[in-house]
Amino acid sequence: MTSSCNGTLFVVTGPSGAGKSTVISKYLTENKDVFFSVSATTRSQRIHEQNGVDYYFIKRSEFEKMLSEDKFLEHAEYVGNLYGTPSEPVFDAINKGHDVILQIEVTGALSVRKKCPDAVLIFIVPPSFSALELRLKGRGTEPDEIIRKRLEKAKTEYKAADLFDFIVVNSDVENGANELKTIIDAEKLKTKKRRNFIEV
Ligand code: ADP
Ligand code: 5GP
Repeated sequence: MTSSCNGTLFVVTGPSGAGKSTVISKYLTENKDVFFSVSATTRSQRIHEQNGVDYYFIKRSEFEKMLSEDKFLEHAEYVGNLYGTPSEPVFDAINKGHDVILQIEVTGALSVRKKCPDAVLIFIVPPSFSALELRLKGRGTEPDEIIRKRLEKAKTEYKAADLFDFIVVNSDVENGANELKTIIDAEKLKTKKRRNFIEV
């Protein structure tokens, strides 16, 4: 009898302001057994963010040192800052059988697919592009110039959506979190995860 005891890697991406953090937080409050990967970044800490919870906020020199030591599963430069997924905690969790969620931008997500072909890639969008702009402005965490750059970036990111396995529409948070849950639950029912029930 074979059994699949490794967890699954879920990579959640989408334009800034789509609601990735909000939807994932909602999902995680109701699904506590899933491991959330905390990224490292050189961006400055926002007022409500906690170091070690939302991100590891580090200096560029420290980030570059980690990069040279091959400590990232993936990394990317996004609107002037570096972001990266520390690999060790992700693989530790997967090897212990936990599902893992990465919340990362599009180029990083696509590079994960090359390294981990079994990863499930999910693209989150708001119901419209104008909603994206409203959400980014409403969040109030970036100056107008950075919001403009993030919206420009979003146009390129949308063009990559076809490369993803699923699209979650974050119309309201409840719906977004339910769609994410549907995807994660369905993955657990795949044949490769249920071989142990096939006995003849
Ligand atoms: P991301 O992580 O994709 O950059 P956030 O989760 O920070 O996006 O959400 C961006 C802004 O939009 C936040 O102010 C958040 O409260 C708001 N938001 C998220 N989801 C929704 C939603 N379904 N409806 C309305 N506003 C939302
Ligand atoms: P923010 O500055 O709004 O927190 O994040 C900007 C973008 O960087 C978002 O699209 C977010 O998903 C992405 N991001 C966060 N962590 C990582 C990471 O570890 N790697 C990559 N490639 N992108 C990340």
